[in-house]
Amino acid sequence: MDLIKETARRKTFAIISHPDAGKTTLTEKFLLFGGAIQTAGAVKSNKIRKTATSDFMEIEKQRGISVATSVMGFEYAGKWVNILDTPGHKDFAEDTYRTLTAVDSVILVVDCVKGVEEQTEKLMEVCRMRHTPVIIFINKMDREGRNPFELLDELEAKLQISVRPLTWPISQGQSFKGVYNLYKKGLNLFEANTTRISESIIKVSDLNDPELEKWIPESFCHKLREDIALIEGVYEPFHEETYRDGLLAPVFFGSAINNFGVKELLETFLTVAPSPDEREAAERIVKASEPAMSGFVFKIHANLDPNHRDRTAFFRICSGSFERNKFYYHTRLQKKIRFSSPTQFMANEKSVVDESFPGDVIGLYDNGSLKIGDTLTEGEELHFRGIPSFSPEIFKALENRDPMKAKQLDKGIRQLTEEGVAQLFIQHGARKIIGTVGELQFDVIKFRLEHEYGAQCDFTPLRFHKAFWITGSNKEMLDEFLRRKWNAIALDKEDHPVFFAESEWMMKTAREDYPDLEFHTTSEFK
Ligand code: GDP
Repeated sequence: MDLIKETARRKTFAIISHPDAGKTTLTEKFLLFGGAIQTAGAVKSNKIRKTATSDFMEIEKQRGISVATSVMGFEYAGKWVNILDTPGHKDFAEDTYRTLTAVDSVILVVDCVKGVEEQTEKLMEVCRMRHTPVIIFINKMDREGRNPFELLDELEAKLQISVRPLTWPISQGQSFKGVYNLYKKGLNLFEANTTRISESIIKVSDLNDPELEKWIPESFCHKLREDIALIEGVYEPFHEETYRDGLLAPVFFGSAINNFGVKELLETFLTVAPSPDEREAAERIVKASEPAMSGFVFKIHANLDPNHRDRTAFFRICSGSFERNKFYYHTRLQKKIRFSSPTQFMANEKSVVDESFPGDVIGLYDNGSLKIGDTLTEGEELHFRGIPSFSPEIFKALENRDPMKAKQLDKGIRQLTEEGVAQLFIQHGARKIIGTVGELQFDVIKFRLEHEYGAQCDFTPLRFHKAFWITGSNKEMLDEFLRRKWNAIALDKEDHPVFFAESEWMMKTAREDYPDLEFHTTSEFK
């Protein structure tokens, strides 16, 4: 198949939101448009419900659902769309961060009643770090939400990105009439309807045309004219370039549950969102159009059934085409491996795929040789960057409860941390410190160590606040720092030194006292 053509028609992205803003609903509507599912309700939310947080097996059941929806591919208007699902639950944020390293753009869903919420801010930080292009969908316009101008101001202030509305709501809540499309200059009238998938846009070439009042009440027309004049006056016109550089986010308003504004969003997304382009490896920049296959693992999912102890590695193709049964070079292990059943995910189904292209995410059966961040190539020594570890927020020391099972514990914790369940730091050559973003992970680790490795453990909470990866060209200063802070220093999985700060204040004084050192909140830095 034609590599260039296949690459150009691919759009690989993630929908992100604070839980409950409408990510699952929007995903489902996209799949309905793409014909990948026929009925609403077919996509199971991967949300870990609050009531379930103490019920581990329930969480695992739900986690099973989330693997089924990890990647959803479908075709729409000649384009191949890959939606990468991200867990909404805060405790699984690290998983979401990593998924964001495998996409080319993002659609961010914001609830018009709640505005920008905590989780949204964190996810945007990761997008900013990677200059990921973002489109914003302000959802639930059928509810009495906040003033749209106020929402735009909040988006700019809290997410540190310029915004540009491409549609504009005509009232909201009970009196919501629809949206005006500033891009196509048309009216899309609202009709509460959860099943239809067509949207008819009424062309309005001039907002001052009295004809407008045929469609919407006079007072609304007046307000709309005022609003649009204000937008055109205040906001810069939409530039695709600036959006693609991750500096400007186009904004759409709608109601996912009512299927309103979704088609406009999808179609604009398909027009402006970037296709796979280039990726930075430690050695060089790799173009998607290069014929030799390359890609990286960004997520590993273990089968929890003790009778089937296999794992699925999620692999993002960056260049060339990936072929079934062909040998590829594993650059970390420096050996060749091949895969007889690479899996393609399509909504609720998966199937073995013979050939995949840049932008695609495939599932590779793994018996333990793949780790997050691993690169496969056709022989070249490449190591993709941009799959960093992020500073954990909760730290606990791992204690072995059964001295006879020390080996099992060691093996188990290494494998689980390779999967990305948590991060492992080794202090003074022996003490194991586990760092996570949520309490839930400790339950997961304990349960899995016991059931899969037969090891028993306890956790002792540590009062650390954040981990900082340390670098510095001033070797003397670095050595002195490591010596003085030895109690709060450990090594990460690559033997890089990490400093555990107990508070922001402590971090600030460390920065002041050791001006030649650099403290990083992620494991990758230039
Ligand atoms: P997620 O946690 O972001 O995946 O959110 P969901 O898609 O599960 O939606 C959370 C809740 O909001 C569900 O009860 C949805 O039915 C509801 N919801 C989604 N979109 C809309 C909308 O446009 N209007 C209203 N009123 N409710 C919505």
